Amino acid sequence: MTGRVTLLGAGPGNPELLTLLGKRRLAEADVILYDRLVNPSLLAFSKPTAQRVDVGKLPHFHKVKQTAINQLLVDYAQAGQRVVRLKAGDPYVFGRGGEEAQFLKANHVPCEVVSGLTSAITGLAAVGIPITHRDYASSFHVITGHHQSGGRQLDWDNIAHQEGTLVFLMGMAALNDICTQLQANGRAATTPVAIIQWATQWRQRLVTGTLADIEARVIAAKIGAPALIVVGDVVKLARELQPTQPLQGQHVLLPYSAHSRLAPALQDQGATVDFFDREVPTAIDFTLPDLSQVDALVVTDGRAYDYFLKRLLAAGQDQRTLAHLRIIAVNTAVAKHLRRQGLLADDVIATPQTANALVIGEAGRLAAGGLATYQLTTVATPITWELDEFQAIIFPSSQSVHDFQQDLRAAQLTLIAMGPRVQAALQERGATAQLVSTNREDILAFLKGVQQHDQDSNSIS
Ligand code: SAH
Repeated sequence: MTGRVTLLGAGPGNPELLTLLGKRRLAEADVILYDRLVNPSLLAFSKPTAQRVDVGKLPHFHKVKQTAINQLLVDYAQAGQRVVRLKAGDPYVFGRGGEEAQFLKANHVPCEVVSGLTSAITGLAAVGIPITHRDYASSFHVITGHHQSGGRQLDWDNIAHQEGTLVFLMGMAALNDICTQLQANGRAATTPVAIIQWATQWRQRLVTGTLADIEARVIAAKIGAPALIVVGDVVKLARELQPTQPLQGQHVLLPYSAHSRLAPALQDQGATVDFFDREVPTAIDFTLPDLSQVDALVVTDGRAYDYFLKRLLAAGQDQRTLAHLRIIAVNTAVAKHLRRQGLLADDVIATPQTANALVIGEAGRLAAGGLATYQLTTVATPITWELDEFQAIIFPSSQSVHDFQQDLRAAQLTLIAMGPRVQAALQERGATAQLVSTNREDILAFLKGVQQHDQDSNSIS
């Protein structure tokens, strides 16, 4: 059976700018091929079992890139896989989506195109530049700045004489040439120019100037590809229309939760949120042993007891069934937990050697002969960013501190603990939170003051 290939527009980077169909296709995909320009945070929408192929890392990437990718798409689809080819912006705006579609058609592979928001329009809006405006531009022209030798050459005379907005993609290496050609063909040296890098993402940067001075400003600001080059009077509107969101540029890491209310609150203020893996407990459907045959219950962790109790209740019994048992907790934390559940431990013994005892615990940590009442399943949301690309990590619970796999002491970023118990869990790992609070407003206000990378070049010059 042949699968299918979806050429999927990822949009300019902010994961929330993906289309609804795009999100569904990502969730359905067995294989996802993506490259350098695609924001890796989008992979959080895929299923944990999906195979993720970073085609930017294929051997001999630059030489055989496109032919190798085309062939991979065909091979995966012919193996019956649902394939998503994730492409930055819109698949049919540069980026060779058309060539991929032709190759798939020629190989009789079912193929669909799911459009995305192109950076050529959305990237401008992200910094307050409307691509058309009645007072400034009644057309726009999207032009590639990258030319293969022997390929089609640009008609500079024609381009320079358009009254509309010019948007160059893949043009940073040719910035000098672009500015020179436009002026040589009649454009004023004072024509406004904007450079927008990583539009809609936390690392978005904007530099403005004119055809005469933009190159010097770009060098001074150390801004480079991938970026859009916008030429025309609409650039002036950025001064007035640039969004001013208090948390723009903040990149925050949270433990994964499908129902987090904190994540949208942060996003609404302009922050970008990424998630790290969590281990979530899930019940095991075990058979209740004949409790009249045992003398003691050894509880190795509190949660294991909660799941045990649930199972007991589901079977129409309650804690009175345990009345004849000696209750042993393996540490004081477990004993305290049992107490909260209305059960007093008879003993606290780290390694009880009790004959005829029922030992309950978590599947992964239980010695042979014990009864596992639940297991931890990892909810996979791979962090594809280095830790130093975040400004802050927020820990809502001590469990989330335990779930965090990386070395907290090495991370040079702001830690926020939601409550004193979470702070204690951090301290056990040798880290200290800069803010301890459960109040969402406090957290948002605190984040506004957190230092961002390259903050001063984010503004209009
Ligand atoms: N299909 C894409 C364009 C691919 S060509 C689209 O529709 O947006 C690659 C070029 O797109 C880059 O060199 C850069 O000029 C531009 N680009 C893509 N995403 C961008 C972003 N988030 N910010 C700035 N430029 C971007």
